[in-house]
Amino acid sequence: MSPTEATLTYFNAAADLLQIPDRERYALITPYREIKVECGFARDDGSLATFVGYRIQHDNSRGPMKGGIRYHPAVDLNEVNALASLMTWKTAVVDLPFGGAKGAIAVDPKSLSAGELQRLTRTFTQKLHDVIGPYTDIPAPDMGTNAQTMAWIADEYAKFHGFAPAVVTGKPIELGGSLGRDAATGRGLLYATECLLESLGHTVSQFTYAIQGFGNVGSWAARLFHEAGGKIVAVADVTGAVRNPRGLDIPALMAHVAINKTVQGFPGGEDFPGEEIISQPVDVLIPAALGGVLTGANAGSVKARFVLEGANHPTEPEADAVFAARKIIVLPDIYANAGGVTVSYFEWAQNIQQYRWEEARVNAELRRTMRMAFTSLAEIRRQYLCDFRTAAFVLAIDRVARASRLRGM
Ligand code: NAD
Repeated sequence: MSPTEATLTYFNAAADLLQIPDRERYALITPYREIKVECGFARDDGSLATFVGYRIQHDNSRGPMKGGIRYHPAVDLNEVNALASLMTWKTAVVDLPFGGAKGAIAVDPKSLSAGELQRLTRTFTQKLHDVIGPYTDIPAPDMGTNAQTMAWIADEYAKFHGFAPAVVTGKPIELGGSLGRDAATGRGLLYATECLLESLGHTVSQFTYAIQGFGNVGSWAARLFHEAGGKIVAVADVTGAVRNPRGLDIPALMAHVAINKTVQGFPGGEDFPGEEIISQPVDVLIPAALGGVLTGANAGSVKARFVLEGANHPTEPEADAVFAARKIIVLPDIYANAGGVTVSYFEWAQNIQQYRWEEARVNAELRRTMRMAFTSLAEIRRQYLCDFRTAAFVLAIDRVARASRLRGM
């Protein structure tokens, strides 16, 4: 199933419960604007290179559109479309005053020098500057882009519109980035998990965890769950995996990865094949790397009782059905990994206020946001007797549909 089909499946299940008429569904699911641009720039050797860039602006009924820009050689427009709509639902689940968008350039950033990347990013910004902005559409980093990319976008945008750091989030701290943004997605995952486990009479420290991915989301989740007393027994990255049934020493593993660029060979555990991470005997599985990793074919091998979606759309609908039948509880991406966009919202708010918040305030507001959303999700689950994913889509679609109707759709 393509990412768009999968998103549509979830959307329709929730829209059925809300009894949204077909015409309104069509308006809610169709992107507001799809942009495709050609980005030409001079290579270091003087030759001309050109790459195709996209920005899908999905919905702005609740506020400016918000979503990352990824640089990846195999950019799939279908996936960018699905990710743009997921951003609309994600910002609505945690009740941020934003809509959803996503952008991409079909390029392998590792194949370009820093100068070439900067020129490509500036060209992309020149092509988009009229349709992005602090009150229109606010990009952020995604796969293959980072704080430096956002700094170049903000600088190029300023040439056309004047100083406006709120045009992008995920900026370096020196240029108006927020304290706590780096850890935000992993921290949001922890706060979401605390809510879930509390509601079942448990705590984070009672359980064992396996994490797929040890980048921004996976490594911060590992560190914060470890600090909360959870036992991280297995971790995988693109190179392979490492496990220790007594619990991995996460700070030591982070130090090992900083030097060796791989989790493999860590003296505090034993290596094993990365694809076996999903079938480790743990209480909680955290996919925090790629989309589409939990499928109808492999969902039966998952031994965890809980799946926390750190990654975007890691679970195919067929796997969801298997999990439901096996009473495995899934905290869905549009809630579980919303900590990143929530702190992006705080960054935007700080830029507009021209006032920096202390990190403790950022974390406290993030915790409050995740807890409020969980209370709403739990209420919808009781009302509709559905799983968390359906509840998250019900909450989001209801909020977006109400806003659209009030605006006169
Ligand atoms: P990242 O690039 O920092 O890290 C990705 C990690 O995944 C790396 O450790 C990499 O080695 C690992 N990986 C790649 N292929 C793998 C494979 N086949 N098996 C095991 N591990 C593999 O990316 P990130 O920012 O941590 O994002 C991870 C996921 O979380 C993505 O789906 C992203 O869309 C989603 N997400 C990120 C944020 C954020 O704030 N960074 C917010 C919401 C959602």
